[in-house]
Amino acid sequence: MIKLKTQDQLDKMRESCRIASGARSLAGRLVRPGLTLKELDRAIRGFIEEHGARPSFLNYAGFPASACISVNEVVIHGIPDERELKEGDIVSVDVGAFKNGFHGDCADTFAVGSISPEAQRLIDVTRQSFWDGIAEAKPGQRIGDVSAAVQKTAESAGYGVVREYVGHGVGENLHEDPEVPNYGRPGHGPRLWSGMTIAVEPMITQFSPQIRVLDDEWTVVTVDRGLAAHYENTVLITDGGPVILTRD
Ligand code: MG
Repeated sequence: MIKLKTQDQLDKMRESCRIASGARSLAGRLVRPGLTLKELDRAIRGFIEEHGARPSFLNYAGFPASACISVNEVVIHGIPDERELKEGDIVSVDVGAFKNGFHGDCADTFAVGSISPEAQRLIDVTRQSFWDGIAEAKPGQRIGDVSAAVQKTAESAGYGVVREYVGHGVGENLHEDPEVPNYGRPGHGPRLWSGMTIAVEPMITQFSPQIRVLDDEWTVVTVDRGLAAHYENTVLITDGGPVILTRD
């Protein structure tokens, strides 16, 4: 069931989203060669808790950390460990914050020091596919319109679109209806209404979109070891167009 949010619920949700976004921005400022993934996770957790929220992902379905931190060929759900970031890596950081009964959810992929033009292009196209997707996110349109726009931008740049993981409604629960795939057909899927809040999150691969899950049962990697990038915001559908809630 798709829940439309009331004004009062949206006021609360805006705060959770601002905190999640602030934690993502902090991660972007901290990322540098030599930083360990655990240090980054600790800083994110500290930021979220200082703002009176709790990390949405900590213990979610047993996830053992506050943020998903995914390096290079890791697409999503990377578990922060003692690994050090090194020059030329790209690192995807996915953050959720829960406060006053509502979640905010967002992600971005950051460059560690200077990166290859190929890696930068993947990051740029992934972000662009998000913006092209939400350009379709208006009342009366359908989820398939958003999905198809994301897919078109990614695939016409020669990249892969991960099929097994998708965006989602977000609110009182981290994952709510509807699913928001990054591939699909225009004019298909649930209709968008003013007051819906959805997490749109392209997960884009440099080469083949085939993925597998490592033995830790979390870490999702590309089968061909090509790079992957991720960009996500929590978006409110309004009559005036999409509003990005995860903005700090
Ligand atoms: Mg999400």
